[in-house]
Amino acid sequence: MDYPTGHVPEWGSHAHLLRLVATGTANSRSDLVRLVKLAPSTVSSRVEYLLDQRYLRESGDGRSQGGRRPKLLEIRGDGGMMLAVDFGSSHARIAAIDVAGRAHTVTEHPWELAQGPERTVDWLVERCRELVNAPEMAGIPARGLGVGLPGPVENRHGKVVLPSRMPGWHGAAIRDMLSERLELPVVVENDANLMAVGEHLTARSGVEHLLVVKMGTGIGCGVISAGRLHHGAVGAAGDISHVRVPAAGDTPCTCGNTGCLETVASGAAITQALIARGIEVKHPTDIVRLVQEGNREATVLVREAGRSLGEVLATVVNFFNPAFLVIGGALGSAHPLLAALRGVIYERCLPLATQSLEIESAAAGANAGVIGAGLLALQQVLSSPGADPGATPATTAGAAFGTASGTASGTAPRTAPSTEETAR
Ligand SMILES: [Zn+2]
Repeated sequence: MDYPTGHVPEWGSHAHLLRLVATGTANSRSDLVRLVKLAPSTVSSRVEYLLDQRYLRESGDGRSQGGRRPKLLEIRGDGGMMLAVDFGSSHARIAAIDVAGRAHTVTEHPWELAQGPERTVDWLVERCRELVNAPEMAGIPARGLGVGLPGPVENRHGKVVLPSRMPGWHGAAIRDMLSERLELPVVVENDANLMAVGEHLTARSGVEHLLVVKMGTGIGCGVISAGRLHHGAVGAAGDISHVRVPAAGDTPCTCGNTGCLETVASGAAITQALIARGIEVKHPTDIVRLVQEGNREATVLVREAGRSLGEVLATVVNFFNPAFLVIGGALGSAHPLLAALRGVIYERCLPLATQSLEIESAAAGANAGVIGAGLLALQQVLSSPGADPGATPATTAGAAFGTASGTASGTAPRTAPSTEETAR
């Protein structure tokens, strides 16, 4: 296949074209036509829309390749920001994300999600208003909001479904609540999915098959398959935390079952085990600090967590055959966890599945979640009605990338299928 890969935005979409300009991969209409292999008139009409909506501007003249000298395209500095928030169970990271995926005015706040959806929405609306009024945002419109939550999110309707660590949140239509209050398109996603998108788009843009495991208070896993975020039928793909592992025995889990991975390998479980041994721990980062200080109990528990995680991921790796397995979240930087995990994966997986598999700590850092949230929100904003006037028939290249399902769960319905979608 000779098409560039590693993108989350739908192939040739406004968001994809904008991303190609934002990353410096393309700087003219002819570059874009050459890269996405769609009809020049389709690319042109999408570029016109991006110019009209003030995401892009034209500057100077490029080098002629025989005909008229092409106008160069560049990102507008005042083109807009996405508001983005990445909730943990007891804190939130908030940022403004520009169209190139850079994080600005990043702040961390303590917030207990256990306070419930209504109070959380009130609190977040206030934080968003503060962010919009920050000096760095002067003259720059907020285009949308992306929200990450540490629980299952039904992605089509932006609703939380049976979260084990968010009491009172089941069925909360958080996307619609926020969208109504802020009058912005809103995307709500599981936090591990956002971390996967952020990691994929910033640090591993060439990787098509990628698993990103978030080891924080809970355990989550985001799946990038063929360059796209994989949701599954209702958004539940990647949930590994309630797989049964031998080390967990009959320990009861928050999900109602017993013996789940989460009961031995999550930050919450390790924290509890350390407290039971009289060691003071408040947050998963304290566990990593204890391991770095050589605390024996913490090191043993983290190593055992890595082994149990490895047992579950060995099955996933054999089944899914990723090129990269990335471990993020607070515990992702704990060496004994990664070492134990590697040992089990290489012992249990088929040689073909591991011969080119790389297992690493997350590279996108603590902002991966907010960057993923911002970029998915941008994608949703650009797929709203009116974003695709006058698309013309495409070449077959657009059909090379599977179904055209939206990867974001925003408020606005998707555009009517464009011609290249119906051609698939
Ligand atoms: Zn469970």
